[in-house]
Amino acid sequence: MDGALLLGLTGQRMRNTIADENDYQNEETAVMEEQANMALAMERLLAHGHAVTPQRRLVVEALRDAPGPISAQELSAALEPSRGIGQMTVYRTLALLLDAGVAYQVATADADRQARYVFCSGSHHHHLVCQTCHTVLEIAGCGMETVDHEVEQRTGFAAVGHHLDFVGTCPACAAQGKGDR
Ligand SMILES: [Zn+2]
Ligand SMILES: [Zn+2]
Ligand SMILES: [Zn+2]
Repeated sequence: MDGALLLGLTGQRMRNTIADENDYQNEETAVMEEQANMALAMERLLAHGHAVTPQRRLVVEALRDAPGPISAQELSAALEPSRGIGQMTVYRTLALLLDAGVAYQVATADADRQARYVFCSGSHHHHLVCQTCHTVLEIAGCGMETVDHEVEQRTGFAAVGHHLDFVGTCPACAAQGKGDR
């Protein structure tokens, strides 16, 4: 895969692509990983009390296959020609996916920008967002477990978790002199 294509890819795919450059993973592994991610996504929807309908599955697939962070409108446009899934279905499904942790809403610096979403893999991860081009990478693991535990000790709260985003300038944007130094 050629370097310029990397820029628009979401975290899951970009991580695979980067891995491919050093240690080649065959297509079959990638397909199995996608199916595993899909199954986990459906499990999480059910665990949050949301039924898995064929339409919802198609929305999740379209989100997963998007070349980068995608808006609800773009998602509808991608689904509409062949499947006739309405915009309201897309909006409602996105809300459920956010609730279940299957989708992540990309934080952007400018307030008037349309909300954009990426598909989330099953494992515990955080997001690294380029503040210039809004590319999103999944960062596996975080070392925050000890902090969670400390907060539990200090507050008496049980099952403490956390939300944590990382932001910065991606290598491609930095190379073009864009973004903060
Ligand atoms: Zn995610
Ligand atoms: Zn960037
Ligand atoms: Zn974490």
